[in-house]
Amino acid sequence: MGDKKMAAKCSLVGAGPGDLGLVTLRAKQCIEEAEVIVYDYLCNPEMLKWAPESAEKIYAGKKAGEHTLTQEGINALLVEKANEGRRVVRLKGGDPFVFGRGGEEAQALAAAGVPFEVVPGVTSAIAGPAYAGIPITHRGSNSHVTFFTGHEDPAKMESSLDFAALAQLGGTQVMLMGVERIGAISKKMLASGMRPELPVALIRWATTGRQETLVGTLSDIAQRVAATGFEAPAVAVFGDVVSLRDELNWFEQRPLAGKRVVVTRTRAQAGVLSEQLRVLGADVLELPTIRIEPPTDLRAFAELVQDAHAYDWIVFTSPNGVNSFFDLFYKLYDDAREIGAARIAAIGPATAQRVKDFRLHVDLQPDEYVAEAVVREFKKEGGVENLRILLARAEKARDVLPRELSAMGAIVDDGIAYRTVPETRDDNGARRRLSEEGADLITFTSSSTVENYMALGLPWPRGMQVASIGPVTSKTARDLGLTVNVEARRHDIPGLVEAVRKFYGTKS
Ligand code: SAH
Repeated sequence: MGDKKMAAKCSLVGAGPGDLGLVTLRAKQCIEEAEVIVYDYLCNPEMLKWAPESAEKIYAGKKAGEHTLTQEGINALLVEKANEGRRVVRLKGGDPFVFGRGGEEAQALAAAGVPFEVVPGVTSAIAGPAYAGIPITHRGSNSHVTFFTGHEDPAKMESSLDFAALAQLGGTQVMLMGVERIGAISKKMLASGMRPELPVALIRWATTGRQETLVGTLSDIAQRVAATGFEAPAVAVFGDVVSLRDELNWFEQRPLAGKRVVVTRTRAQAGVLSEQLRVLGADVLELPTIRIEPPTDLRAFAELVQDAHAYDWIVFTSPNGVNSFFDLFYKLYDDAREIGAARIAAIGPATAQRVKDFRLHVDLQPDEYVAEAVVREFKKEGGVENLRILLARAEKARDVLPRELSAMGAIVDDGIAYRTVPETRDDNGARRRLSEEGADLITFTSSSTVENYMALGLPWPRGMQVASIGPVTSKTARDLGLTVNVEARRHDIPGLVEAVRKFYGTKS
């Protein structure tokens, strides 16, 4: 049989419990190659950014009480899309075969003769307790684990959950779904002879920046849930191992745990900042306000790029400018040497790094990451009189550079390399979360992120504070009526992250 015939047309993929780092390599590969993605409420939507832009992304819902599509509808959709000859990825929270109705979807595909594969995922049943500092097995405490669901098919007349048997079994018991029914469930467990003082932990939004854990005993957990307004989705752990959390709670103690932080860079650039904040425990909302587009007059810039070799200096002020320049450059030329003797200046380490990514040397990189510093640096080097300088900048950038360099006698071509346009999509649901849940802090990494954010006209969540990458950005924020609570001392991403960490470190 040919491999082609057997190649899966639909992949049932476990998306893991939420933390992007807990997605398998195979799952990521499936997403990268997908033509259609059907995803659930519990999948972290951030992973959709791995998909090709062209992939069709379909939200299948299934938040309790909100069924965007019925199960039959989902089954039929998978078969239909696969039969169109497209690579279909069915992304399901946790593991697809653990209380996720993945089995039914596989049956539907099998019945329709659609070749499929199953990509197991890290289930919340195991990852949830782990991130709460609860080992589900522990030598001397228990020798077996039971997984059960607290939310059975409501159509069933009789419960198949045998609480007496659960009570008999002992060990660690992990319940998925059914937190809203914890009152009835704990009552049944007590009636079946389980100890009232048995430790219980509920972990909601486990492994994400919004993880919260509630600990109690079988006799008081329902009351605690009611008192704190603790909500689904959550995993419940019943067993003596819950007490180990006192020593082993690692995840919820990180410096930014419990802080919801908004990142406003473009989707393509947000990654590094988001990742560094997440590692410190923040719940990051990636809310890009802008998207990078070619400049209005691309031809004009292309003509400057074509003459790159005729310049003494090319000055890059942002990684976007570098990308845009070299995209064009390598469309025009297939040899890096076509850049001739032009020397390169870059503002900021990220910009310099991007130049180096193209295997070119950065000849001048001021210590400070602002336009004025380049001017100073050129002065130190003996001036730029009669030198030809090409700038590769954003549309509507400040005019400090062309003005000052021209004043020093240089012949300046102000190349408009790209422009920023408002981002209006909400692919990852961050906008919805911002309006529903608010945020503690918003980060601005350039003046344009501030301007663009304010231009979106989104409501400002109560108490949301502002962190800025440096004085220029801060000034823009103040001019627009904002109060800047944190300003980075080093004006780059690690500098901003450090400032945020210190801000929260010294406050509590
Ligand atoms: N297949 C999934 C489970 C699907 S059933 C898995 O393997 O994890 C849905 C239930 O999973 C939710 O009601 C909740 O109990 C649990 N769940 C999934 N992700 C969760 C998370 N990040 N935090 C807490 N509970 C989660």
